[in-house]
Amino acid sequence: MSQAEPTLSIDDESTPGAEATRLAAYVHDERLALYYRSLRQSLLAVLVNSLVLWWLLRDSAAPLALHGWLAATLAVSAYRLWTARGFARATPPDRRETRWYRHAIAGALLSGLTWGAAGFILFTAENSYDLSLLAFIIAGMCAGAVVSLAAFIEASLPFLALCILPFAVRLFAEGSLPAIQLGTIALLYLGFMALVTRRVHETLTRGFEMTHLRQRAEETVERQALYDDLTGLPNRRLLTDRLRQARAHALRQGNRAALLFLDLDHFKRINDSLGHSAGDAVLQAVAARLRDKLRETDTASRLGGDEFVVLLTELDGTLEHVIQHTHNTAERIRAAIAEPITIEGTQLHLSASIGVSLMPSDSEDTEDLLRHADTAMYQAKDEGRNAVRFFVHEMQQAIEARLSLEQQLREALARDELELYLQPQCDARGATFGAEALLRWQRNGQWIPPSEFIPVAEETGLIYDLGDWVVNEACRLLAGFRELPGCEALVMAVNVSTRQFTRMGFSDAVLAALERHRVPAAQLELEVTESLFIDELGTTQECMARLHEAGLRFAIDDFGTGYSSLRYLQTLAVDSLKIDQSFVRGVIDNHGDASIVRATLSMAQALKLTVLAEGVESEDIREFLVLLGCQRFQGYLFGRPVPAQAFREQLLSGEVAPPP
Ligand code: C2E
Ligand code: CA
Ligand code: CA
Repeated sequence: MSQAEPTLSIDDESTPGAEATRLAAYVHDERLALYYRSLRQSLLAVLVNSLVLWWLLRDSAAPLALHGWLAATLAVSAYRLWTARGFARATPPDRRETRWYRHAIAGALLSGLTWGAAGFILFTAENSYDLSLLAFIIAGMCAGAVVSLAAFIEASLPFLALCILPFAVRLFAEGSLPAIQLGTIALLYLGFMALVTRRVHETLTRGFEMTHLRQRAEETVERQALYDDLTGLPNRRLLTDRLRQARAHALRQGNRAALLFLDLDHFKRINDSLGHSAGDAVLQAVAARLRDKLRETDTASRLGGDEFVVLLTELDGTLEHVIQHTHNTAERIRAAIAEPITIEGTQLHLSASIGVSLMPSDSEDTEDLLRHADTAMYQAKDEGRNAVRFFVHEMQQAIEARLSLEQQLREALARDELELYLQPQCDARGATFGAEALLRWQRNGQWIPPSEFIPVAEETGLIYDLGDWVVNEACRLLAGFRELPGCEALVMAVNVSTRQFTRMGFSDAVLAALERHRVPAAQLELEVTESLFIDELGTTQECMARLHEAGLRFAIDDFGTGYSSLRYLQTLAVDSLKIDQSFVRGVIDNHGDASIVRATLSMAQALKLTVLAEGVESEDIREFLVLLGCQRFQGYLFGRPVPAQAFREQLLSGEVAPPP
């Protein structure tokens, strides 16, 4: 990932240093909360004990000292009560402020001071009953502090010292044996209490730590169940939940939500060429860009693979306004993803296809919403990728129509209801030397053009069976034509779609069909398109070479309309180019078309390839093409595609020639 890329917060969160800091902060917060929680109870004990002391010592202690002490004690308690109330009212973030900690320490120390003062100024050596009462109360306050202040070892130890030391000092100053004995006991008691305090403190701290670790573990489990590991984005489960909420909310508030279904274009290529770690880095970068472009209320999630879903909620205003806003957001996301990104030192240009559906208008339930956005995303892909498309109801209908088309095509294939029409391929004089086999399908008495059903067959994989049928049928027809006079070398061209060609076992199926009908391989020409040379060149090359060696011919169909490089013409086993109809049609009037045709012819000559012009409809065009040097033609001028029987009759009545 390049330096400029934002790193993921989830990774920061799990560094050991950060974890320790978080633990310390948690323990600190809990200690403070515990102190303030138990403060009222401590203050009650202080009040009762100080009043008891004040009452019982009213005759023996000096009045000024006694009243002054009580007033000071009550003042300190009032201050502590005030801090406790303040803390109780503070919001959790406010409670983190250091003043609460300082108040806690100051309160504890002031309280220790008052009890220390009691031991010092209310000390009476004359009345041993009062002295033991004083000792008893001070000891009691210390014992109480072990519990109430244990969380703050930094306050509880000074508290104990402040409480006991002045009293002990007075006892030692007194000098009598019983006083010195009692003073020694007081010091021992101080030491013992300090030990106990430490113990309690450690136990409490460990308890807090355990609680924190358990909470963290629970959070982790929750995160794993609801969030995607790789990107830290919500996963499908959490998204579904938020979708449901958003829907309920939209219905209640009368506003809308939108769902953006995002799929990276050609992500597989990144994985295949740069490896999975690069793929992962790309997904993380995309997640970061998504987060970057969204509001707090929106949810970006990852469904898996390279599929992301963004939920935009609380969209107010008219439908037009909502559509506009959603479109702007989707475009922003699309543009953000299209920015170049550096992965492991390689600069990549990503793009995404985004489908959008709106709630509540587009759908009855949340599943529909997702499905519709998905459909719209495919529409965006179909229309060339790197685009945003909205789901509209007609789109859904089109999808359903396609599904039923696929089903019917499957049945038609099974019932042998498909047919090959043949269109003659001729030389300049009009003599037929071959034919192109074109698939025809009549559904319920209505012709469905191949441009409609071939893409469906390709998408659904039905093209494999369909293609096998076509190749076999072409061979069967060829075998029949071979018996006609002069037709022993007739070449039949068959269209092969890219998906069909790249399937394992394709070449075996073709060779088997030739074998089955005893047709020489040289009589079969496979028409492939340039899209075959964009992906997976390795397998393509192998398969072509194998078939070529067996004697088959290869033609590039619709030549000039694809985007592939011309280098393949040199390296692959190509025999002929079919100039696309669009160039042929404009060859006389359009200077550009004429140039392309001319360039194709001269390049083919240099590479020793033959050229056939498709879609020749008029005599003028034929003449012009002949002038440019073209020798082979196909088009309505020479004959339309006709059923095999009709073609057979044409062969019998017309002139047949070997390929020029
Ligand atoms: P394509 O391979 O370019 O086939 C030529 C198309 O041009 C055919 O349309 C043909 O009827 C039409 N055509 C021929 N001469 C003329 C002419 O002079 N003027 C005009 N305007 N059109 C002419 P068709 O039969 O509708 O086939 C359309 C496409 O469907 C084919 O284009 C081919 O890509 C595909 N296709 C047809 N049969 C098969 C098949 O068996 N397998 C595969 N994979 N694709 C097929
Ligand atoms: Ca063709
Ligand atoms: Ca063509």
